[in-house]
Amino acid sequence: MRVLVVEDEAKMAGLIKRALQEEGHAVDVAGDGPEGLWLATENRYAAIVLDIMLPGFDGVELCRRLRAADDWTPVLMLTARDAVEDRVRGLDVGADDYLVKPFSLLELSARLRALARRDDRARPAVLTVGDLRLDPATKRAWRGEAELKLSPKEFSLLELFLRHPGTVLTRSQILEAVWDFAYAGTSNVVDQYVTYLRRKIDAPFGRHDIETVRGMGYRLRDPAAG
Ligand code: CA
Repeated sequence: MRVLVVEDEAKMAGLIKRALQEEGHAVDVAGDGPEGLWLATENRYAAIVLDIMLPGFDGVELCRRLRAADDWTPVLMLTARDAVEDRVRGLDVGADDYLVKPFSLLELSARLRALARRDDRARPAVLTVGDLRLDPATKRAWRGEAELKLSPKEFSLLELFLRHPGTVLTRSQILEAVWDFAYAGTSNVVDQYVTYLRRKIDAPFGRHDIETVRGMGYRLRDPAAG
């Protein structure tokens, strides 16, 4: 895989680069914030190793700008032992993981492999599929410009569908995700709530986005998948 290392200390950058190359990865190195952002923007990396203390602008700012540009390449931050605040800032702007200096190069490689197994599909705060949008934080949802008035269960059900567009969800998967373990009812409740949800998000708009997959369950049509 191709990895970008943004680190201004040449010795540290060299160590990381060699260690990753020995594992067969292609490694680019940037020595400051602006160069790192430029490389990250111009190329497609499986992961970015990002030091926080950098000339130009720091790693937190670099990560913030990447995410603002809708770039979700996995980011592993490198921080000083006592820099708790930096780590919090880093995670808050969308870094995926961090390592505290000094760290073992073996651990760095392992963390990178784990990060690269995730993909760089957007993990934004607001979920969007086609013209359906849902904000889990404010508990609001929309079809285009129209705000949807949903009960808490309908909201949870829509959230589940939006997190898995184009994927068939079985009744038991839905039941497990939306109703808690204490729920003693049957999976008929799923059919019932899918009906309620269709009445609110599909029927009024002349849409049929929640599809019934016979014998299996339900699927939210993903317009991005064609
Ligand atoms: Ca540094």
